[in-house]
Amino acid sequence: MGNLDLAALLRRRRTPRSFRSDPVDPQIMKAVLDAGGRVPLGDPGCWRPVLLEERASREALLASLRAAGSAEAAVELLGAAPALVANCEAGDGGAGRAASWMAAAQMALAAEESGYSTLAVRAGTEVRPPASLGLPAAWRVEAVLAIGAAQEAPAARPDLAEGRGDGPPAAADPPRGAASADRRVLLSFMEIAAATAGAEDLDGVLETIARALGRLFPVDGAALGLLEDGSVVVREILRSGATVRRDPERLPADGSHLMSWAISRGRPLWRNDVPSELRFAESLPASGLRSDMVIPLRARGELIGAFLVGSRRRHAFDREDFEVLQRCSDMTAVAVETQRLLLATRRLSETDGVTGVFNHRHFAALIRQEVERARRLDRPVALLMIDIDNFKRFNDTYGHQAGDEVLRHVAQLVARLLRRSDVVARYGGEEFAVILQDAAADGASPVAEKIRQEVEKSALALPGLPRHLRVTVSIGLASFPADARNATELVGAADRGLYRAKRSGKNRVCPAGTEGS
Ligand code: GH3
Ligand code: MG
Ligand code: MG
Repeated sequence: MGNLDLAALLRRRRTPRSFRSDPVDPQIMKAVLDAGGRVPLGDPGCWRPVLLEERASREALLASLRAAGSAEAAVELLGAAPALVANCEAGDGGAGRAASWMAAAQMALAAEESGYSTLAVRAGTEVRPPASLGLPAAWRVEAVLAIGAAQEAPAARPDLAEGRGDGPPAAADPPRGAASADRRVLLSFMEIAAATAGAEDLDGVLETIARALGRLFPVDGAALGLLEDGSVVVREILRSGATVRRDPERLPADGSHLMSWAISRGRPLWRNDVPSELRFAESLPASGLRSDMVIPLRARGELIGAFLVGSRRRHAFDREDFEVLQRCSDMTAVAVETQRLLLATRRLSETDGVTGVFNHRHFAALIRQEVERARRLDRPVALLMIDIDNFKRFNDTYGHQAGDEVLRHVAQLVARLLRRSDVVARYGGEEFAVILQDAAADGASPVAEKIRQEVEKSALALPGLPRHLRVTVSIGLASFPADARNATELVGAADRGLYRAKRSGKNRVCPAGTEGS
């Protein structure tokens, strides 16, 4: 497919449709990917991670596109774009890449909905950002999205033609009629979409969304309600304009409070005089919000939750604000789903399926990190190697399922005895490793002894078995820097302790000691 076809496709005025109710037009997406494959990006050293509005960055990108010489129409479109947006992802895989594309597609749709033409380009280019940005050393630019001039009257928007050198305009920009309002809506949408790809945690994404909306109308408070196991889990994100990092609250999903009302009906709600409103219990007690708007969130057609923004003023919002917020609902839902998916995937890849504690692979990464951290801070770190005694006998006598129950039992027991900063992982078959931050042998030894005693004390009752199972463990103990120079040696030293514990009769704790002792 030629690039002119692409340009024509992108410029085609499409009938307005409800925002993000259909998937991305596959024809457009294909054309964009075809074109993107032929556009190499040179020298990306000057790229910023999310928003490329500076003239210098744009010039560099355009120059490299021109030098490639094979996608004139794309260059032309990019050249007309008031803003270029690049989504960068650490280059290690599917989920991040998908999130980048999802964000780019969402942004494209948001922009098109506001009357701009868009062009997405697949880059897949290694980027080495300047150290000053504090990013990982090697990133990949996955998706580049160019947002072009308005489709109706491109020449009438000279104020959009060039971005400012110092990033998006501040919220204090005076309104300058419809064009300026459009621009603010667009910038807010771009910020929201970029957040879905860039942020590390759900709270961060939601805060970005709330603050981006705060450029459009007054936002003092924001909260998310998510349907989870038959309740609505409400997390407050902003209160009085400040970040909130409070534990989420579990509320009934019975329509009795605002969030669950919106979720159960699948309907948005806008209230300009909250105190005089007696229909619901509030989802956010004592939030001081006198106006609020709540929108239901859907993912793949299913209601997953609701998003609320509010202001301390009465009558803070008008119909247009309500519409803007509703248009954000799909982007917000995608952000929530993406983050949940990433989180679930990450957790899955770090967790042992039988016991629910970290798996060996994650342990290997953690122990290296912890030893490096200890070295940097000049602190000790201790490692316990725990091995269940005579475990083979359980399996042989009661079967493997009973054996698995014993593994879960021991894992949970150990996890319960540890501090938050400590880590338990399944090292192998019936072996567990425990990392104790800031502990040398004298601090770790009582912890190990406590674990040994608790396991011995807590006999395990299993359905179908005539008697309680008695379990004991042997534990080897070592610490950095006393017994080892690095993580590998630390594991070896704790293993030596374990070997000594086994050899000297099991059900005991032994330090690494010296070789051959
Ligand atoms: P010792 O006291 O010397 O540690 O003896 P042991 O029987 O615990 O040690 P050994 O290494 O001889 O046997 C470990 C057994 O652990 C062998 C295997 O049957 C069992 N095992 C390993 N992984 C699993 C698992 O995931 N589930 C179950 N049920 N058993 C496992
Ligand atoms: Mg064993
Ligand atoms: Mg073993």
